[in-house]
Amino acid sequence: MANIPAPRSLVVLGGGIAGHAIAHRLKSLFAVTLVDPKTYLEVPMAAPRLLVDPDALQARIPYLEFLDGVTLVQGRATGLTDGSVAVEAAAEA
Ligand SMILES: Cc1cc2nc3c(=O)[nH]c(=O)nc-3n(C[C@H](O)[C@H](O)[C@H](O)COP(=O)(O)OP(=O)(O)OC[C@H]3O[C@@H](n4cnc5c(N)ncnc54)[C@H](O)[C@@H]3O)c2cc1C
Repeated sequence: MANIPAPRSLVVLGGGIAGHAIAHRLKSLFAVTLVDPKTYLEVPMAAPRLLVDPDALQARIPYLEFLDGVTLVQGRATGLTDGSVAVEAAAEA
């Protein structure tokens, strides 16, 4: 019988510019969980352009649109130990 190793787990705290890229790049190698109070990636550099051009690329991209296979936890990390992360629920959209 083949010995198939279980996927390793990775928790990414914060799905901003760095966190979303880490989650996206590693989701095929790890069982990734992303924790963020928001349900979308906010692209800060797109925001100023939207002020003058409402048809420009959106500054908010829902995680669900590109993080398939990643477990999304909407909340704010409040503590960290060797084996667990404490998360406070967030109602932010
Ligand atoms: C208007 C504007 C324009 C910019 N333009 C440029 C540019 O042209 N070029 C450039 O290089 N940089 C630009 N920057 C800077 C760039 O946006 C930041 O350097 C970059 O976003 C930092 O990335 P980060 O992943 O460290 O943090 P962030 O992108 O800020 O991500 C942090 C994430 O962590 C989440 N978070 C916070 N606290 C918690 C918690 N307790 N638990 C879980 N999640 C949490 C937040 O919700 C967020 O999603 C710009 C910034 C702004 C505001």
